[in-house]
This record gives sequence, structure tokens and C-alpha cells, in this order.
Amino acid sequence: MIKLAKDINMSLSSDSKQWLNLGVGNPLITKEVEEYWLSVIKSISAEKVAQSVMSYGSTSGDLLLRKTCSELLNKHYGWETTAENILVTNGSQSLFFMLNNIFSGQFNSDSKKIFIPALPEYVGYSGQILNQDGFDARLPTVKNIDDKEFIYKLDIENCHVNRREHGAMILSFPSNPTGKCLSEQEWQFLVKAAENEGIPLIIDCAYGNPFPGLCHQPIDFKMLPNLVYSFSFSKAGIPGSRIGIAVADSALVANLSLSQCNATIQPNAYAQLLANQAINHHDLSRFCHQVLRPMYSDMALFAKTLMMDLFKGINWKMHQYSGGMFLWIQFSDLKCNSQVIYEEAKKHKLIIVPGDVFFFGVDSSSIGGEQCIRISLAVSERTLIEGLSILKNIIHKLLVKK
Ligand code: PLP
Repeated sequence: MIKLAKDINMSLSSDSKQWLNLGVGNPLITKEVEEYWLSVIKSISAEKVAQSVMSYGSTSGDLLLRKTCSELLNKHYGWETTAENILVTNGSQSLFFMLNNIFSGQFNSDSKKIFIPALPEYVGYSGQILNQDGFDARLPTVKNIDDKEFIYKLDIENCHVNRREHGAMILSFPSNPTGKCLSEQEWQFLVKAAENEGIPLIIDCAYGNPFPGLCHQPIDFKMLPNLVYSFSFSKAGIPGSRIGIAVADSALVANLSLSQCNATIQPNAYAQLLANQAINHHDLSRFCHQVLRPMYSDMALFAKTLMMDLFKGINWKMHQYSGGMFLWIQFSDLKCNSQVIYEEAKKHKLIIVPGDVFFFGVDSSSIGGEQCIRISLAVSERTLIEGLSILKNIIHKLLVKK
């Protein structure tokens, strides 16, 4: 992961124009996206910015924003949350750092891990736990939809969570890297398991609804005491401002607020102004729904159509796209693992993300995970065309080598 981050940084800094980056996690900043956020920024007076950044604020986040978020989510999901259920954080990554460490480690005589119901999962959790070996993760089963698309399913038989070994469960929904959204049945299974064992189920909605709104198979999320939801403003267009929110039982929010106080005192004041202004005065939900959501789903369709054309003669398939910012592609006939694709791609100044980083050290050969890569949809059509053309040549070369 660290090597990957270094390579991506290098491709962004040195002669970045020569690199084709299909690894990006940054949201796509089109003219429309830029105009939207510029209008939000310009509508906040300099006096207001000065007022808010010149003093410390609440460690849980500004009360006005917490109320605003609670009202928005109540309207969207039919919840009955109040500001007491909302914690504003410096991006959702910092929330997961707190949660993954609070709920893993030694508890009296029990040593607990964070349970990941189905790999591949967001690589950003993998280095977070201060204790080594802090995750217990399961592989999914694979269901083929047709000869070009498959879907990972929770291996429910193999998903036994228990409170002595597991401190919490975590998953991204929609998934980074696969674009999967859980089915209602899978969702009910996890909610019940969390409830039965009395452990938190952490749902990472970094790509979810209502913002950034990139979820095409939404679930009727309920607000239950064991559930912790995380939302982020990053993929809606402001990753550099570092702001996210957690929604949870008020007692957990109060505890997280203390952890946040120790770690960083308070969430970013300017980012909170932006978030509040976007929701209350610039209809953030509408922007996400009408601009961002079609932008990424059109790009997913464009990428699939392009691959159908470019990858003729190659045995490839992809995970069904149900949301998020990525496509997960498998080259089933490859005898090498995705690190080899990654290294070859680098030689051609192309960045893709090798699939193995999303498997948390678990052997994924039984589901063909070693032959998978992730590509980003947050790129221009031109970058996709050029990047996938290079990838096609690399895969052809590797197939001949076998
Ligand atoms: N969760 C997922 C699934 C992500 O993909 C990311 C970023 O790429 C994050 C969390 C972290 O986002 P942020 O800290 O910017 O809110």
C-alpha cells in the first residue's frame, strides 16, 4: 500500500502529464463540479470565514452542521436522529482510524479483531490498526451474471461473527474497490449478526446516498443502536477540505468526540462552513443526484463498452457496477498475479491498482482475486481510452509469456 501511494504521488508530481493515471481516488473535477463548489465558496463571506477560523470550535463539530446533517439524513432515510447522533470528523479516514482501534485489541482476557465480511475491501483500513494482525476477513463466493459480469456474494455459511473474537464489523457500501452494493438479504444477515453479538456494524458510505449519491442499489438503512454510518464530503468534490460525518448511538458519538479531542481537538472549521452552506443553500443532494451520479454511471458504461471492443480475444470480466467510483476487472487466463500487471503498466507510464492490496494478506486464489485490478472512473474518456489500450497490449504480452 505504501509503495502504491508513493508511485501515485510520483505520477502526480514529476512530469505528471506523461503519466496515465487509472489509479486515482480523487473525484473527477469537471467544469460543472468546479462551478458548483466555487459558487459555494464564493457565497460565504470573508467575515464569516474569519469568524469561524479564528477560534476553536466544538470537538464534536459545529452544532448547526450537526443539526443540518441530521435533518438531511432523517429526510432521506426516514430516521429520527438529532445532533446528538452526529459527529463531524476530519474526513472519514480519521473516523475509521478511531473506530478500528477502539474496537480491536485486548479486552480483559479476549483479544478482538475487526471482522470484514467480504474481501476485497477498502485498502485504507488495512494499515490502521496499531496492533498487528487486527483484521479477520472472509472471502466472498462468486456468482457469474453473464460471460462479462460477475458479482461477489457474502459467503454467509462462512461469516460467523462472535463477540469474543470480534470487536466490530466494517464494510464499504458501495464497495471500494468492486462497486458492489449488498443485497437486502446480505444486509439483513449482517444487521442481525451485529445485533445478536452486540457489536457495532460500521457502514462506510463514502460513495453512498445522499452525498455523493453514487449508490445505484440503495438499501432502506435503519438507525439501530448497533449501526454506525459514515458519510464523507470528499467524493462530492472537496477531498482536500477533510470533512466527514459519523452517525451513531449518542453514547458512542460522545466517546468518539473525546477520542477526536485527544487526536485533533476539533474538525476543520472552514470545511464545516462549506458543508453547511452546500447543504442549506446550494442543494447538495440535488447536485449529487443530477450531476455526479450520472457522470460516474455514464463513465462505467463507457468503460465497459470500450473494454468489450478493445479486449476482444482476452478472457476478461468485471464486477457488476452498482455504485462508487471504480471498476474491478479480472483477467482469468493470466498465470501471473496483478503485481506483475502493475509493474508492467508502470514501465508504460500507466498506473492501475493491483487487486492484491485489497485482500488484507488473505490468499484470494480460490476466487481468482490474484488476476484482478481496479481502475478508476474519475478520469477523462481520453485517459480511459489511452490507458485501456496500453493495458490491452500488456495483457496480450503477459498471456503470450505464459
Ligand atoms: N472509505 C472509502 C471506501 C474510500 O474510498 C475513502 C477514500 O478514498 C475513504 C473512506 C476516505 O475518505 P475521506 O477520508 O476523504 O472521507
